Amino acid sequence: MRFVNSFKDKMTKFNEEHKLKYYIDTMGCQLNENDSLKYAGILESMGFVPGTEEDSNVYLFNTCCIRENAENTLFGRLGMLKKKKLTEDNIYICIVGCMTQQEHILEKIKKSYRFVDVVLGTSCMSIFPEKLYNAVVNSQRKLEYIDVSNTLEEEVPIKYTDKYKASVSIIYGCNNFCTYCIVPYVRGRERSRNPQDILADISRLAQDGYKEIMLLGQNVNSYGNDFTGENEGYGFAKLLQDIEKIDGIEIIRFISPHPKDFNDDVIETIRNSKKIARQVHLPLQSGNSDVLKAMNRKYTKERFLEVANKLKTIPDISLSTDIIVGFPGETEEQFLDTLDVVRNVGFDQIYMFIYSPREGTIGAKMEDHTPYEEKVDRLERLKALYEEMLPKLNEAMVGKTYKVLVEGKSKTNDNMYTGRSSQNKVVIFEADDSLIGKVVDIRIDSQHLWYLKGTIV
Ligand code: SF4
Repeated sequence: MRFVNSFKDKMTKFNEEHKLKYYIDTMGCQLNENDSLKYAGILESMGFVPGTEEDSNVYLFNTCCIRENAENTLFGRLGMLKKKKLTEDNIYICIVGCMTQQEHILEKIKKSYRFVDVVLGTSCMSIFPEKLYNAVVNSQRKLEYIDVSNTLEEEVPIKYTDKYKASVSIIYGCNNFCTYCIVPYVRGRERSRNPQDILADISRLAQDGYKEIMLLGQNVNSYGNDFTGENEGYGFAKLLQDIEKIDGIEIIRFISPHPKDFNDDVIETIRNSKKIARQVHLPLQSGNSDVLKAMNRKYTKERFLEVANKLKTIPDISLSTDIIVGFPGETEEQFLDTLDVVRNVGFDQIYMFIYSPREGTIGAKMEDHTPYEEKVDRLERLKALYEEMLPKLNEAMVGKTYKVLVEGKSKTNDNMYTGRSSQNKVVIFEADDSLIGKVVDIRIDSQHLWYLKGTIV
């Protein structure tokens, strides 16, 4: 579905006189951040200008429901805005994103946060201009629970904030129903964008000077599984190969692949590529096959290790992962399997969490007898193992030369510049402003746990 904004001219005219400002508060993952850039693009195409948290008129909350504290964060922020809304003119509050797909949240807003103007679910950008126009010009409030639809919205205006790096969604939704995860319920089934649209977007970004592209999706390597007709058979490996051919793009990243769908075609495409980053995020979640089964992850410890070990045959590859400790029923022995996989693989980055139930998921109904203190202890042991292994992984990079996109001055040292290596490691080095936005070769001189120091060669 092509995005058409029939309220653009009317709203722009209104804004020529009223000059309303907007502020977007984004919670959650990179997909949400990408959606927020689109909401910013829509708002600016209608004449709204960026404001601050203090002086804006339209406050848009782009919500997430992955973490437990996200609800408290949203309702806390709404509470703080209430006085502003009730005492000042021209204040409008919009809530969009994953959280609004949950009925109990919508009910709570209807009952206790009646000052909110617009509530829309996911896949609703095409109706956002109308709802906002009605709220601003006609004082109409619209709180809608939208059934998760199978729509794909193309050609939504987008306002990139970075000059050299851009993210591009390639697939929306998820078919996997991991038992701890709410995403398939709030984002709907997998819908792959047509390769023609994705390649056109990336070509335009390359012409505008963008060097690094991050491909986004809940499960990028099931890209294309839903294609029928002319694109049938076109998958993630082919998409990567076609993006590789676009002049100007120098670094290609993607997040997140699912270990069960990581096939040899994609691994060989990474190996043969000059542009795909030598970094893969491979979410483990647990290293025990029974826990993985209870999580409905559809792979075993052995299959995960097989994929990880194949990836590790690619020179200079770095792996990162997500791990949940304390899933309902996880025993000490099962947790030790997770430590075993971590020891075996050697992850350069681990995003680790203690399990917390999400209302509406199968996991939330599972019995959980592990005391919280024990879960905290497991998390601490996982963290300790990771921090013990990381310096050795970093050390292996010292003396070697890597390509780094120069992002700008270091925030902590005015004389130094910063960027990320292909392995997604932060690198600090001496440079000058003329190199910002360029990809340079840097020899790594030393490692400092969370960053590396190097010299341009
Ligand atoms: S693959 Fe699993 S964890 Fe990832 S979004 Fe889908 S259901 Fe959630």
